[in-house]
Amino acid sequence: MNEPIYVTQPVLPELAEFIPYLEQIWKNKILTNCGPLHQQLEKELCEYLGVDYISLFNNGTIALVTALQALGLEQGEVITTPYTFVATAHSIVWNKLTPVFVDIDPETSNIDPKKVEKAITAKTVAILPVHCYGIPCEVEQLQALANKHSLKLIYDAAHAFGCEYQGQSLLNYGDLSVISFHATKVFNTFEGGAIICHTAEMKQRIDRLKNFGIVDETTVDGISLNGKLSEVHSALGLLQLKTIDKTLEARQKIDENYRNFLQNIDGIKCISRLHLEKDNYSYFPIVISERYPLSRDELFEKLKANNVFARKYFYPLMTDLNVYQQFKSEAPNAKQLSEQVLCLPMYPTLIIEQIQMIVDVIQECAK
Ligand SMILES: *Cc1c(COP(=O)(O)O)cnc(C)c1O
Repeated sequence: MNEPIYVTQPVLPELAEFIPYLEQIWKNKILTNCGPLHQQLEKELCEYLGVDYISLFNNGTIALVTALQALGLEQGEVITTPYTFVATAHSIVWNKLTPVFVDIDPETSNIDPKKVEKAITAKTVAILPVHCYGIPCEVEQLQALANKHSLKLIYDAAHAFGCEYQGQSLLNYGDLSVISFHATKVFNTFEGGAIICHTAEMKQRIDRLKNFGIVDETTVDGISLNGKLSEVHSALGLLQLKTIDKTLEARQKIDENYRNFLQNIDGIKCISRLHLEKDNYSYFPIVISERYPLSRDELFEKLKANNVFARKYFYPLMTDLNVYQQFKSEAPNAKQLSEQVLCLPMYPTLIIEQIQMIVDVIQECAK
């Protein structure tokens, strides 16, 4: 039978193109500690993304933990979404802050600002929304709330690499934005991540925090982690940047094809991405409603039987995980979406025949 099709497949350059970078690392013997390739990647990413300051990290999770620390958040409540990957909520709890889970707008899958406002208390110190699937949050409304109540605003922008919104990088909104370069993301460095900030002072603070809080040989000014990205990872990032536009173009075509093929299947809805000027097409989520003959879980199994491994992003909700029981709250929109959503395979080398085959499976069950 056909090859298994997974929800994603990492983009990799030709191995031969990677070797010269490795030779350079072997020759100069600088492996980490913000060496030349690390510095070059920060510079090229600022240019490509259209942001002022970026600090690279070994992954997005440590970047999230460090971002909250960099803003001096030591106690209180942080409002966030239950409809996300566990790292978002984990970063709050790792900082001994209290996550307050607020429901989403089912149209965008992002946190609902009206509900955020209702959840603000005297203890609230920050809002941590997620640009889910790379779809922008209601950035103006959230910034207005943050200003009105003197709250910090940190975006988990793990899905938002390269997205532009209202004439600028989506990563420029909020006090800080955090991205991930994990293998499953649109742009990968095997593992990796970054914090985007607005001032040189903040970048310096973050750069120290990602290096144990070390200021100089005898001074340490924070109890923080080791979040540095190595030279090998940075080298891969430099290579990936050379082909990122082609990657995004290929993703756009796949997104278009899915939407065309799926538009007349009753009970299947593709989540709209219309808000974006420049999109990265990360993920292809569909919503399986009651009008479709199969449940989401049944369709998931049906696809699997055809060697297609879709993923239930994001299920279960944070508020339904055992480890988050003490922070439980009601989020009916998020609950419903998490029970109806399925992310279909989406990666640049997915060919049209494979897309057609996946759609055929979905179509057959609709009859
Ligand atoms: C991938 C992801 C992260 C974590 O990034 P890592 O680089 O894997 O640590 C955080 N938040 C969201 C929403 C993600 O999808």
